[in-house]
Amino acid sequence: MKPGSYVEIKTKTGEILKGIVMNTNDPKILSLKLDSGYNIGLDKKNILYMNELRKNQEIKPKQQEEIKINKNLKTIAILHTGGTVASKVSYATGAVFPSFSPTELINMFPELKTIANIKSRLIGNMFSEDIRFVHYNIIAKEIEKEIKAGVDGIIITHGTDTLAFTSLALSFTLENLNKPVILVGAQRSSDRPSTDAAMNLICAAQFITRSNFNEVGICMHGKSGDDFCYILPACKTKKLHTSRRDAFKAVNSNPIAKINKEGKIEFFQEYHKKEHKDKLKLKLFNDKLKLGILKAHPNLSKEEVKMFSKFNGLIIEGTGLGHLPINKIDKNTKENELILKELNKLAKKIPVVMTSQCIFGRVNMNVYDTGRKLQDSGVLGNYSDMTLEAAFIKLAWLLSNYKKNQIKDLINNNFRGEISKRVTYEENLFRLFKVF
Ligand code: ASP
Repeated sequence: MKPGSYVEIKTKTGEILKGIVMNTNDPKILSLKLDSGYNIGLDKKNILYMNELRKNQEIKPKQQEEIKINKNLKTIAILHTGGTVASKVSYATGAVFPSFSPTELINMFPELKTIANIKSRLIGNMFSEDIRFVHYNIIAKEIEKEIKAGVDGIIITHGTDTLAFTSLALSFTLENLNKPVILVGAQRSSDRPSTDAAMNLICAAQFITRSNFNEVGICMHGKSGDDFCYILPACKTKKLHTSRRDAFKAVNSNPIAKINKEGKIEFFQEYHKKEHKDKLKLKLFNDKLKLGILKAHPNLSKEEVKMFSKFNGLIIEGTGLGHLPINKIDKNTKENELILKELNKLAKKIPVVMTSQCIFGRVNMNVYDTGRKLQDSGVLGNYSDMTLEAAFIKLAWLLSNYKKNQIKDLINNNFRGEISKRVTYEENLFRLFKVF
């Protein structure tokens, strides 16, 4: 049986299985992709019989077709960067790999064409865990090209793992943005019946054409079912679940809007289009930067702090209000004192910014003595409610575009909505747990 064939198998134990045959390196094993999406390896000796129900149906990429422009519709550029949203299952490995050609994707989701004139290009083909600062610059330049070409909005398809970092990076890079740029991911690959790619893409397109939103946002499932999507704030969103379709949540903030496939929009609060006097300007990332993240944990060692001495900046994911183990209280806590010493040295050399490993809330290094000591040693970020992602991307962007001695004052400056003015998250927290 050739890889890609859809078969029915009966095992010697009487089990009936249906799925797609995949390639394996082991001639004794038959590998099947079951209808559920899971893979199973079967010892060929245990197979009683196998029937081919359907031949290999792997779709061959179609040639780029001519796009017929409908003058009554707005134009959206879909720029693909890769990830599950534009991927299918490889029968050779059984893994999900980024592969759909842009035309294939539109052919799969024909509704898109009824919402807008769609221009679609592949600008990358990678999983988002592999993305580096240089890619933020590449994406930003492609967006600028499309805006100059006159599109009404842009959809960036992207892997979900680091989508929240990229949405921040684009927000910071695209200064004076005056068009909607919506990032869309999917938790299930586009060739699976359970894919969330279609709805996320359609909702993003509806939102672009029907609202006056002109910033960077994220469009992902609002619930695990196909009821609606959220448009989430680019600088205050996190991926909070490994596999659920509604994995993305606004943190210390509300979503911007709810939108369904038919294009019904409900804003969470009145939306005012951003007005800019100046033209779009790209403030790109320095891809040579080395930025670290240090997670506070019990039994931390001074070496973990020292490790960052050759870096350009460090984000600490502290405990609670923004703490590290730095207090020597007896003979068992001598290491803590050494940690503080290292930190004193480090914060004199590079910007060190505190965030919290609590998902919700604000850093406050004024409440406990520990926080005060950290501030004395030069740790920045007090009173900020930035997510770890926001602090990381913002610090990288500041280091790329400003002088090192300006960082101290700029880190708590709210550039793109990454810091909330008011505490709005109790309501958000409540909603989050109701949903889960
Ligand atoms: N690891 C993948 C990525 O982030 C998962 C996904 O595509 O959603 O690219």
